[in-house]
Amino acid sequence: MARKGAGPRPRRVPQRICVACRRTAGKRELIRLVRTPEGVKVDPTGKAAPGRGAYLHPDRRCWAQALERNMLARALRTQIGPENLAELQAYAASLPEEPLPAEDELQDQVSSG
Ligand SMILES: [Zn+2]
Repeated sequence: MARKGAGPRPRRVPQRICVACRRTAGKRELIRLVRTPEGVKVDPTGKAAPGRGAYLHPDRRCWAQALERNMLARALRTQIGPENLAELQAYAASLPEEPLPAEDELQDQVSSG
């Protein structure tokens, strides 16, 4: 039997760099931002909306750093106007302050009951 193109190849998960803390993470763990004619937006698809993209952790600290230090604007080679900045800050405010708890911590809470 000749198999053709079957079997998943071991494929590396694409890694992206958070523009604030410069740590790499899996693409899915980061929030993609994209430069649009209307300003910098959170990529609503989380995939590859057209345009120049940059990534940030879903972590307020990374967002604060990226916005305050103009890192996001630089990464996207654009300028973020005051209104756009307010939008992004509002988005950042909706993010959890602490990183999400690890899975084993969650299990720990569930087990007793
Ligand atoms: Zn980060």
